[in-house]
Amino acid sequence: MGTISPYGLGTCHNCDAPVRWATTEAGKQQALNPEPDEAGNVAARLGMGPGWWARVPTTERPRTPMERRFMPHAATCGRPPLPIPPPRPAPPAQARPTPLQEALPLQPPPELPPGVTSLARHRLTRKDGR
Ligand SMILES: [Zn+2]
Repeated sequence: MGTISPYGLGTCHNCDAPVRWATTEAGKQQALNPEPDEAGNVAARLGMGPGWWARVPTTERPRTPMERRFMPHAATCGRPPLPIPPPRPAPPAQARPTPLQEALPLQPPPELPPGVTSLARHRLTRKDGR
Protein backbone atom coordinates (compact mmCIF):
# COMPACT_ATOMS: atom_id res chain seq x y z
CA MET A 1 0.00 0.00 0.00
CA GLY A 2 2.96 2.29 0.37
CA THR A 3 1.94 3.80 3.64
CA ILE A 4 4.55 4.18 6.33
CA SER A 5 2.19 2.77 8.91
CA PRO A 6 -1.39 1.64 9.12
CA TYR A 7 -1.71 3.00 12.62
CA GLY A 8 -4.00 5.92 13.10
CA LEU A 9 -5.28 5.96 9.58
CA GLY A 10 -8.72 7.37 9.30
CA THR A 11 -10.89 9.56 7.21
CA CYS A 12 -11.42 13.28 7.37
CA HIS A 13 -14.92 14.15 8.48
CA ASN A 14 -15.00 17.07 6.12
CA CYS A 15 -13.50 15.95 2.88
CA ASP A 16 -13.32 12.17 3.26
CA ALA A 17 -9.62 12.26 2.51
CA PRO A 18 -7.42 9.73 4.26
CA VAL A 19 -5.82 11.19 7.33
CA ARG A 20 -3.61 9.97 10.11
CA TRP A 21 -4.84 10.67 13.59
CA ALA A 22 -2.28 11.65 16.13
CA THR A 23 -2.46 12.76 19.72
CA THR A 24 -1.01 16.14 20.47
CA GLU A 25 0.85 17.00 23.63
CA ALA A 26 -2.36 18.67 24.76
CA GLY A 27 -4.05 15.29 24.49
CA LYS A 28 -6.16 16.27 21.53
CA GLN A 29 -6.65 14.33 18.35
CA GLN A 30 -5.14 16.00 15.34
CA ALA A 31 -5.60 14.88 11.77
CA LEU A 32 -2.41 14.80 9.77
CA ASN A 33 -1.97 14.01 6.15
CA PRO A 34 -1.22 10.31 6.18
CA GLU A 35 2.25 10.37 4.71
CA PRO A 36 5.26 12.37 5.86
CA ASP A 37 5.64 15.75 4.27
CA GLU A 38 8.79 17.80 4.63
CA ALA A 39 6.72 20.93 4.19
CA GLY A 40 4.66 20.15 7.26
CA ASN A 41 5.26 21.80 10.59
CA VAL A 42 4.21 18.91 12.77
CA ALA A 43 6.56 16.23 13.99
CA ALA A 44 4.95 12.94 14.74
CA ARG A 45 6.21 9.60 15.83
CA LEU A 46 4.76 6.26 16.64
CA GLY A 47 4.33 5.95 20.35
CA MET A 48 4.41 2.89 22.45
CA GLY A 49 1.61 0.86 21.05
CA PRO A 50 -0.46 1.73 18.06
CA GLY A 51 -0.68 5.46 18.16
CA TRP A 52 0.96 8.56 16.82
CA TRP A 53 2.11 11.46 18.87
CA ALA A 54 2.25 14.86 17.27
CA ARG A 55 3.88 18.07 18.31
CA VAL A 56 5.28 21.18 16.78
CA PRO A 57 9.05 21.14 17.05
CA THR A 58 10.66 24.17 18.63
CA THR A 59 14.21 25.41 18.74
CA GLU A 60 14.38 24.19 22.30
CA ARG A 61 12.99 20.82 21.34
CA PRO A 62 13.84 20.21 17.71
CA ARG A 63 12.56 17.29 15.80
CA THR A 64 14.22 14.07 16.78
CA PRO A 65 15.29 11.31 14.42
CA MET A 66 12.34 9.33 15.70
CA GLU A 67 9.92 11.92 14.39
CA ARG A 68 8.79 12.49 10.86
CA ARG A 69 7.44 15.71 9.50
CA PHE A 70 3.76 15.73 8.72
CA MET A 71 1.41 18.25 7.27
CA PRO A 72 -1.61 18.96 9.41
CA HIS A 73 -4.55 17.87 7.38
CA ALA A 74 -6.33 21.12 8.20
CA ALA A 75 -3.79 22.88 6.00
CA THR A 76 -4.79 20.92 2.96
CA CYS A 77 -8.31 19.84 3.80
CA GLY A 78 -10.11 19.80 0.54
CA ARG A 79 -13.50 20.78 1.76
CA PRO A 80 -14.33 22.86 4.80
CA PRO A 81 -17.60 22.06 6.51
CA LEU A 82 -20.24 23.14 4.12
CA PRO A 83 -22.80 25.63 5.31
CA ILE A 84 -26.32 24.62 4.65
CA PRO A 85 -26.66 25.40 0.98
CA PRO A 86 -29.25 28.01 0.16
CA PRO A 87 -32.26 26.64 -1.59
CA ARG A 88 -31.70 26.47 -5.26
CA PRO A 89 -33.65 28.99 -7.22
CA ALA A 90 -36.65 27.38 -8.77
CA PRO A 91 -35.96 26.32 -12.31
CA PRO A 92 -37.53 28.62 -14.82
CA ALA A 93 -41.07 27.69 -15.63
CA GLN A 94 -41.49 25.43 -18.58
CA ALA A 95 -40.35 27.42 -21.51
CA ARG A 96 -43.31 29.10 -23.04
CA PRO A 97 -43.81 28.36 -26.67
CA THR A 98 -42.40 31.03 -28.82
CA PRO A 99 -44.86 33.04 -30.84
CA LEU A 100 -43.78 31.07 -33.87
CA GLN A 101 -44.56 27.75 -32.18
CA GLU A 102 -47.92 29.04 -31.06
CA ALA A 103 -48.75 30.17 -34.51
CA LEU A 104 -47.67 27.03 -36.30
CA PRO A 105 -50.62 24.74 -35.49
CA LEU A 106 -53.04 27.44 -36.42
CA GLN A 107 -51.55 28.00 -39.79
CA PRO A 108 -53.25 26.32 -42.68
CA PRO A 109 -51.42 23.26 -43.92
CA PRO A 110 -49.10 23.84 -46.81
CA GLU A 111 -50.76 23.78 -50.14
CA LEU A 112 -51.82 20.30 -51.03
CA PRO A 113 -51.47 18.86 -54.46
CA PRO A 114 -54.64 19.02 -56.52
CA GLY A 115 -57.03 16.24 -55.70
CA VAL A 116 -55.68 15.60 -52.19
CA THR A 117 -57.97 16.48 -49.35
CA SER A 118 -56.55 17.64 -46.08
CA LEU A 119 -57.32 15.01 -43.50
CA ALA A 120 -57.37 17.59 -40.77
CA ARG A 121 -59.94 19.55 -42.62
CA HIS A 122 -61.88 16.37 -43.30
CA ARG A 123 -62.01 15.42 -39.63
CA LEU A 124 -63.18 18.87 -38.70
CA THR A 125 -65.93 18.49 -41.18
CA ARG A 126 -67.01 15.16 -39.75
CA LYS A 127 -67.07 16.57 -36.24
CA ASP A 128 -69.45 19.17 -37.52
CA GLY A 129 -71.77 16.42 -38.47
CA ARG A 130 -71.79 17.25 -42.12
ZN1 LIG B 1 -10.38 17.16 5.09
